Amino acid sequence: MAEKEAGPSSEQSKTQPGRRALRPRVTALEEQVDCLEGRVSKLEDATGLEHVQPAPEQAGEERPRCPGCRLEIEKPRARRCVWCGFVLAAARGPV
Ligand SMILES: [Zn+2]
Repeated sequence: MAEKEAGPSSEQSKTQPGRRALRPRVTALEEQVDCLEGRVSKLEDATGLEHVQPAPEQAGEERPRCPGCRLEIEKPRARRCVWCGFVLAAARGPV
């Protein structure tokens, strides 16, 4: 009979939507980005703000970044990245 297993388990939620289904969403998002960029530039003109330059990195305090997640490593001597668990020793190699 037509008894499909529709239990509460999330086994069937692994199926990803097709790329065709994502296209209209991508297009809509691109339009939103264009709209937001236009609003930002208008605000910049209205407020007289120029493009904000990224803050220069503090000299003398170089913190290494995790090759896995690109976040700063608070403890340079840590063996693993506290954010993503990347094994830092593997990237450094044997000292
Ligand atoms: Zn990391």
